[in-house]
Amino acid sequence: MYGVRMEFEQILNDVVGDVRASLGKGSVANYIPALAIADPTKFAIAVATVDGGLYSAGDANDRFSIQSISKIFALSQAFAILGNDLWGRVSRENAGSELNSLLLLELGAGMPRNPLSNSGAIVTTDVILTENGKETKNVLLEFVKERSGNSEIGFNEEIAQLEVEHGHRTKALSYLLASFKNLENHPKTVAMLYFYQCAIEANCVDLAKSLLYLTNKGYCPISGRQVISASQARRINSILLTCGHYDVSGDFAFRVGLPGKSSVSGAITVVVPGKMAIAAWSPALNRDGVSLVALEALELFATKTGLSIF
Ligand code: GLN
Repeated sequence: MYGVRMEFEQILNDVVGDVRASLGKGSVANYIPALAIADPTKFAIAVATVDGGLYSAGDANDRFSIQSISKIFALSQAFAILGNDLWGRVSRENAGSELNSLLLLELGAGMPRNPLSNSGAIVTTDVILTENGKETKNVLLEFVKERSGNSEIGFNEEIAQLEVEHGHRTKALSYLLASFKNLENHPKTVAMLYFYQCAIEANCVDLAKSLLYLTNKGYCPISGRQVISASQARRINSILLTCGHYDVSGDFAFRVGLPGKSSVSGAITVVVPGKMAIAAWSPALNRDGVSLVALEALELFATKTGLSIF
């Protein structure tokens, strides 16, 4: 697609070389011990193209908990279930604040600012729970397995338990949502399922493949299923662009120019509509909570390939 295959692989290898000097800068998340022990010198990048190409470089087989990347999958499923009624329960505006703000939720009278904030993801999880009942935990996991084509993907139980144990603020958000009657299920159950989906473990190759449906008008070429409509895929991409990186989505759009989502474990996933999905990972975060090296790598990648939606 972009010159011969070798040329494309060369770009990824060049990116690995270029970011080497930055490895170790930034700090790994430490709100739970299992994340605090992540090796900050790890780095991987993977690209999956809609026409079946797969390219990767660095520690592409290393698994990590996907954390907030799961919010994309929860949003997709909730949007498929409720259609536009979803927007009666969650807005589509950048939060301009930390991702787990109780204050914003209070000010919004229980309406999360967007589905990629913690409160927004609790609402999308609640929608999935109402639809699937006791099967929900499995449904959340199956979604990632089917999209990536990797049946080995599972939960990291230790991380899930630690999230449940330490996630006081997220639990508070669930109860606040319930107080505003924006949850249909018990806040404790919804929060537990939210934590579990954050604890799904995958590698960069899995994540790049799993997002192909968003590059491909809602059709997942791996499972052969229309996951969401083309219109829904377009709309989710717009939310990724405007709300995917906490308080610095504008900076990400400026530097990378593509819809994407950051996570506290150091993964960043990016969608190039019609072309490919990219996942980059390095555990150390910058002051904004975005992976310092993954961001640098994606900026370099976008510059070298000229891929941007602008
Ligand atoms: N589990 C994390 C939390 O709930 C996910 C946050 C993230 O990846 N940004 O705070």
